[in-house]
Amino acid sequence: MTRIAFIGLGNMGGGMAANQVKAGHQVRAFDLSPAALDKAVAAGCTAAATAAEAVRDAELVITMLPAGQHVRAVYANEVIPNAPASALLVDCSTIDVDSARAVGEQARAAGFRFADAPVSGGIMAAEAGTLAFMVGCDDADYPAYEAALQPMARAVFHAGGLGSGQAAKICNNMLLGISMIGTCEAFALAEKLGLAPERFFEIASKSSGQCWSVTSYCPWPGPVEAAPSNRNYEGGFLSGLMLKDLKLAQAAAASSGATTPMGAQAEALYALFDGLGYGQKDFSAMLQLFRGKLDS
Ligand code: NAD
Repeated sequence: MTRIAFIGLGNMGGGMAANQVKAGHQVRAFDLSPAALDKAVAAGCTAAATAAEAVRDAELVITMLPAGQHVRAVYANEVIPNAPASALLVDCSTIDVDSARAVGEQARAAGFRFADAPVSGGIMAAEAGTLAFMVGCDDADYPAYEAALQPMARAVFHAGGLGSGQAAKICNNMLLGISMIGTCEAFALAEKLGLAPERFFEIASKSSGQCWSVTSYCPWPGPVEAAPSNRNYEGGFLSGLMLKDLKLAQAAAASSGATTPMGAQAEALYALFDGLGYGQKDFSAMLQLFRGKLDS
């Protein structure tokens, strides 16, 4: 049994903390939202009055917060001044690479081990304990992180040193955003050309246009039964979250001097889609923008 402090019990963190309880660990939880904290208590966590109190005698500290500014503030003001230096620190939020590195360096300077470990998989995977973690940490620390994340995971990958977890996450999601837009454009064009979309799916799935967005997550309703396109694009991976990740990718490209013109286009298109009020729809609903049938 490990004494775990869990900070940030929202859509993702709530399910993740519950899985640590199920694995037999003692979880002291904190969230600014009383409703989120109550839910965690119902799942077997103990409520802490502050983040500082949650981490005070923790062996493992897990944070799952909205963005870089929250992670910077929670580590600087609560975790680093109050946790025992022996505690293993891991931030699972999706944040900018620069914040992940800055927080990690601050933690290391205070004698802590730290990892950035963002996840792939949504709310259902968080509840089911089937997330994929991309971990950025020192080689020597990785086995401890792999074991600590296991109760919440389907897979744990060591991406590299500090910040590499966030780098892997945003590079992957930038590629996904671009490939989904390309897939949507191709289906919209196929339709205009009088090519049956189902036939195009069969052909592209076995030709050089094959990719995950076509074969496993087809935006055209029908060919892939489990895809959100068959549920009016409800659930799945929200367009608003894709936009967040594409913005992080563009910020990282600007600060590292990388050239990512397609990533920039993808960000602009998802910003447009979000502005039209479709941020809560699955990101494959972009197809309907290109078809001129957004409400269908
Ligand atoms: P959420 O908004 O549901 O949860 C965040 C929680 O953090 C909230 O309950 C909020 O009250 C709490 N919080 C904010 N500041 C705090 C503070 N200072 N101290 C304590 N608690 C604080 O968000 P989420 O959907 O759970 O996402 C969390 C992270 O996971 C984000 O970085 C997101 O990008 C990433 N992510 C989300 C998904 C998804 O499908 N929702 C998938 C992969 C990754």
